[in-house]
Amino acid sequence: MNEDASKTAEGRFSERVARTRIHRPKDVYPIDEWSMVEQRFSPSFLAQMETIFALSNGYLGLRGDFEEGRPVVQGGVFLNGFYETWPIRYGEAAFGFAKVGQTIVNATDAKIIKLYVDDEPFEIENAEIRRFSRRLDMKAGTLVREIFWEDPSGKRIAMKSTRFVSFKHRHLAGISYELTVENDAAHVVLASEVATRRAPAGEGEDPRHGHHFDGRVLEPLLRRAREERVLLCHATKSSKMVLACGIDHQIEATQIYRSDSQCEDHVGRVVFSVEAGRGELLRLTKYMAYHFADGALPEELCARAERTLDRALDTGFERLLEEQREIMDDFWHKSDVQIGGEPATQQDIRFNLFQLFQATARAEGRGVPAKGLTGQGYEGHYFWDAEIYVLPFVVHTAPRAARNLLRFRYRLLDKARERAQLLSHRGALFPWRTINGEEASAYYAAGTAQYHINADIAHAVSKYAELTGDMEFLCEMGAEIIVETARLWADLGYYAEERDGAFCLNDVTGPDEYTAVVNNNCYTNLMAQENLRLATKTVEFLRNEAPEHFERLVENTSLDLSEIDEWRRAAEAMYIPFDERLAIHAQDDSFLEKERWDFANTPAENYPLLLHYHPLTLYRHQVTKQADVVMAMFLLGQDFSPEQKRRNFDYYDPLTTRDSSLSSCIQSIVAAELDYHDLAFAYFTDALTVDLADIGGNVMDGVHIASAGGVWMALVHGFAGMRHYEGLPSFRPRLPTSWSSLRFAVRIRGQRLEVEIERESVTYTLRGREDLTIHHGDREVTLIPDRPTLLPGVSE
Ligand code: BGC
Repeated sequence: MNEDASKTAEGRFSERVARTRIHRPKDVYPIDEWSMVEQRFSPSFLAQMETIFALSNGYLGLRGDFEEGRPVVQGGVFLNGFYETWPIRYGEAAFGFAKVGQTIVNATDAKIIKLYVDDEPFEIENAEIRRFSRRLDMKAGTLVREIFWEDPSGKRIAMKSTRFVSFKHRHLAGISYELTVENDAAHVVLASEVATRRAPAGEGEDPRHGHHFDGRVLEPLLRRAREERVLLCHATKSSKMVLACGIDHQIEATQIYRSDSQCEDHVGRVVFSVEAGRGELLRLTKYMAYHFADGALPEELCARAERTLDRALDTGFERLLEEQREIMDDFWHKSDVQIGGEPATQQDIRFNLFQLFQATARAEGRGVPAKGLTGQGYEGHYFWDAEIYVLPFVVHTAPRAARNLLRFRYRLLDKARERAQLLSHRGALFPWRTINGEEASAYYAAGTAQYHINADIAHAVSKYAELTGDMEFLCEMGAEIIVETARLWADLGYYAEERDGAFCLNDVTGPDEYTAVVNNNCYTNLMAQENLRLATKTVEFLRNEAPEHFERLVENTSLDLSEIDEWRRAAEAMYIPFDERLAIHAQDDSFLEKERWDFANTPAENYPLLLHYHPLTLYRHQVTKQADVVMAMFLLGQDFSPEQKRRNFDYYDPLTTRDSSLSSCIQSIVAAELDYHDLAFAYFTDALTVDLADIGGNVMDGVHIASAGGVWMALVHGFAGMRHYEGLPSFRPRLPTSWSSLRFAVRIRGQRLEVEIERESVTYTLRGREDLTIHHGDREVTLIPDRPTLLPGVSE
């Protein structure tokens, strides 16, 4: 191991950690392997907690704001793909710039329940609270809040609310709101509401926030109040999406109660009045149904919402919670990663895995927004995050959900074809950021220019097919994506005489957004090369193995067989920038000629640099926002020699600010591969706590889903060293010194492979029907189903 390089990098790392980490108070999340518990009401963490306690199923997301509606910083409800459009106004426009912005809408809020005791409102911030706790129960899939308070007249009131967003019924969420006045009788009013909200005014300078609307985005179409059910139907003003939101209730009280429902354009309400006897339990159960569609009829959507409510009432809250737990059990069985020796780390790992589940479980027909459905950061857009950071976890634990995500991309292929044409290209060009398939990035240098998203999607498609064996998907959809994306590279590049006829890709932006519009970004060229090779391989596979699909592919893409040679030739001749003097890959043609960023004189408060320096200042320096060459070394490890990996990492790691949360996990994986153990662990911890320690200071805008996916990758690809080169799964485990074990399971071609790494040994257990050959370190081992294979640990 190269001690010096590792130390230098580790030294630099700890400097940066000191600059960025906000340590969370211990009593905010005491150690609990299955829950995140807030033990006291913490007004100063309100915004962060709204994100940490957000619940979602990938279709519907509720922020973790209180039922009573206040105190609140950024409350709300998000629906995956429910967005509003707006005209992007440029000071100086140019041909081909994205014209229409897309922003996820903070939808109708159905989770409001206001409480009045003897006509006084319950306000958490003013109440005399004796006990308070909120528990995100990751085993049950619920958020439970318990409060014990005393009103000014001395009445002691115990309250408990249990909230869930159903994984089984994706349009449904529920709340049970319980209350007991322990020492007296009281007149209790519960006002259950459903309401649209006014957007908070004002735009800041943080580009991660995106567009803010002035006033209301939703226009009323239909409203209905009947008994204890209320329905509101609205449409977005410009994108014309229609949303129906309904609430219904059950009340359990020993005393007679009165209820009264009413609704206006933007708010509907059912008010329950109860004379609660001393010590009697009062329970209000509220069901919330959400259905939205593009230009659908309001009546039809309301009918759907009513059916969801009917079904919820029939099923009942207890059964719904049981179903939720059954789904969670199944999730943990398939996806849990267990470590021995560090319960706090275990807790944080589960939080990240839980977030991945929340973001993807029922996303059917949609993508994965950068913040899942936990907040409005990055405007609900889909980026490469889904294919490169989230999909590996999903492919290995829930292949069907992975297929759904890729199928969603396939459905955007026509828009990508149009976009390519607009930019004078053949093939397809996927948008850098989007909801509806059109490019929504208004800053082309760090947006549209990230052509690498094309190769990232093709990479994900081929990995999915390889790891699941789902050739049907490859034949029916994947092949078309791979061909159209390869075509774009063939069209974009050219054989440069001044580079001895090498195939060059000019004016693109790689993953590092602190370097933009450059020639021959190493990551892009390598990924494009893979994309071109995949296209050749896939077309030949179809031609030989699935002639009917081949014919359809030829028809759908107007494929000319001479293109195959064109792709092969371009891939062979692809220019890969390498600096002989430093013996490293160059990030691009000009990167190594630039002045190094003066890290020593950059004050801590100037990070992230993007909030303090003009892009040009960043572009003209050697400083990276996130892993770029290092990213390529992870995804395409077989293209680098061990020596190149070490030299590249030693060079680029100190230049990497980690101003993007997509970086630490990748640096951890590559550091692990290079046996920079402490560094790998430090980067892992950084990724692990990006939300829980609010490392970027922006967790209030939503959790960082790509980093959550990166945490899984750092465990499985980093510490367990799993790779899939040449069709064989391989492992090279390196257990962090403070852990006694690391266990997880992955699905590979329909079989389950359980891996248990201990200090001195590794056990592989295959659950399935067919033998599986793997590499353990340098050893080839054939695993037999249901027969655990115990092997000695891999020595360094
Ligand atoms: C990163 C991108 C990422 C985006 C959304 C940016 O800060 O640079 O790589 O796709 O965030 O997570």
